[in-house]
Amino acid sequence: MLIDSHCHLDFEDFGAEVPEVVARAHQAGVGGMITICTHVSKFAQVVAVADKFAAQNVWCSVGIHPHHAAEPAEQTTAAHILELAKHLRVVGIGECGLDYYYEHSPKAEQQACFEMQLQVALEADLPVIIHSREADDDTIRILRAAGSKLRGVMHCFSGTRRLAEAALEIGFFISLSGILTFNKSQDLRDIARDVPLDRLLVETDSPYLAPVPLRGKRNEPAFTVHTAAKLAEVKGMSADELARLTTANFFTLFNKAKLA
Ligand SMILES: [Zn+2]
Ligand SMILES: [Zn+2]
Repeated sequence: MLIDSHCHLDFEDFGAEVPEVVARAHQAGVGGMITICTHVSKFAQVVAVADKFAAQNVWCSVGIHPHHAAEPAEQTTAAHILELAKHLRVVGIGECGLDYYYEHSPKAEQQACFEMQLQVALEADLPVIIHSREADDDTIRILRAAGSKLRGVMHCFSGTRRLAEAALEIGFFISLSGILTFNKSQDLRDIARDVPLDRLLVETDSPYLAPVPLRGKRNEPAFTVHTAAKLAEVKGMSADELARLTTANFFTLFNKAKLA
């Protein structure tokens, strides 16, 4: 069984199709998934999906994506997020981090929002789900400053070897998405080859980034199998072995997630 460690089932792209999307995941052997929060103001919709599909092992997170760090609706306190994180279905904090590629929010606001969520994660004793794009130095600096009790995952990893090494050094996991399957991603496959087996996760980041051979389509959790197959090839192991390993890693990191 595989777990999709990162998808966005509340996004409009899925519309009323979520029951079918979750059913197709299970049919494909993807027996659980975290639907990831991007707007704390929309947490109610996110947790509603996790509640509705609790029997299908859908969990959720709570947090603010760096794109939205400066939006008025997302201005909140650590205490508020901490309160929301007490919900039974919430297994992680985020996604949070820095995105200097799009820079939809000013860097200073992104950093403050990121640091606040790391403090929430520490206080809640939950893992953080990190989004980092073109922001290696600040991501590494802020993660290190949060201290050694912090645990989490670099989601949809597509960064530099330096970022991967820094994340591994502080005990973080590395999650690979469909980007791993793209032709142009040889550098990423080389990095993935060197990530220790006990630090690997897989995800879709759906509805975005459908893996080859479905590239360009709307992505969904069932497609985790294609990324996992590529990762198994990169690691020189069977698909079954890779599934066992990444699923065990998932429950090590997301230890609040319990199978139904
Ligand atoms: Zn992200
Ligand atoms: Zn995401």
